[in-house]
Amino acid sequence: MSKKSANLAVISNYTFESAKVVNLNHYDISSALQTTLDFNQLISIFSTKIEVMVPHSAYVYSNPEFGLEIKNGVFSRHSCSYALKIEEQKLGTLKFTRNRKFDENELKLLETLLCCLIYPLKNATSYQLALRMAYIDPLTQANNRASFDDSVKREMSLAIRHDKPLSLIFLDIDHFKHINDHYGHDCGDFTLASAAKRIRDNLRGSDMLFRIGGEEFVILLSGTDVAGAELLAERIRTSIEHHTLAYSMETINVTVSLGVSTLQKDENADSFIKRADTAMYQAKHSGRNRVLVAV
Ligand code: GH3
Ligand code: MG
Ligand code: MG
Repeated sequence: MSKKSANLAVISNYTFESAKVVNLNHYDISSALQTTLDFNQLISIFSTKIEVMVPHSAYVYSNPEFGLEIKNGVFSRHSCSYALKIEEQKLGTLKFTRNRKFDENELKLLETLLCCLIYPLKNATSYQLALRMAYIDPLTQANNRASFDDSVKREMSLAIRHDKPLSLIFLDIDHFKHINDHYGHDCGDFTLASAAKRIRDNLRGSDMLFRIGGEEFVILLSGTDVAGAELLAERIRTSIEHHTLAYSMETINVTVSLGVSTLQKDENADSFIKRADTAMYQAKHSGRNRVLVAV
């Protein structure tokens, strides 16, 4: 065997072995990724598994459809970024960074490794979409009644365990029937969606908005005491009052009545909700377009 062919043999042997290693890695990565349907965990597992093959100091995964921007590590100036998709379905963008350039071999390897991430990401997307369908009201994009029933119990246990305040705002649109009767049901729907948007614009990330009935909303405020909840309720009230809706050729002004309750010691969920509901009805009876705090 000539030296050249011996070299070739070594090269092909090396290629065969490295292909085996890559296949083993693919198998290992795919198995690890099958353990979760959570975006955060998927990206974190993937980053850890490829670290030895494609060293990186940080990653950022963005998925606007789910409002996600998952970041981890120390960001540096060199980066490589991939828009992930399968059959026209967008699965987000994944970017890795470090302080030296990614070379071509690393980028090629990374591209093959990313194939392991595509199907787990697709499965996570389908799962999160199904969850969203089960828990989101399609008209207003607020969480629905089923979601509220689950969330209020969970937030109450967390508040008790961590000794943190928990407040609830009950909100009902004033004279909503008149809007439906006067401008039509479609305009009523438009008003509901606009009111939900106004409310959402006033909330923080940890606040949760639910549509629990026709024109009734609840906001759950973890870590918020009665003064904070009353302040927020008042801000939402004025924000809706001062916003004029334009629908077709019409301009419409709506107002809302709100009741606020803060979880008391040893109180159950029914009483916590009922007190806010009662305060809201008192706000209605005392003239509407106002906030009342439950006793
Ligand atoms: P109040 O100030 O006392 O709250 O009066 P209101 O007219 O807002 O309350 P009422 O309970 O009399 O009417 C609520 C209306 O909401 C009646 C119902 O037809 C309407 N509604 C419920 N769900 C929807 C919906 O999804 N879309 C539309 N357009 N209307 C809805
Ligand atoms: Mg009502
Ligand atoms: Mg109403």
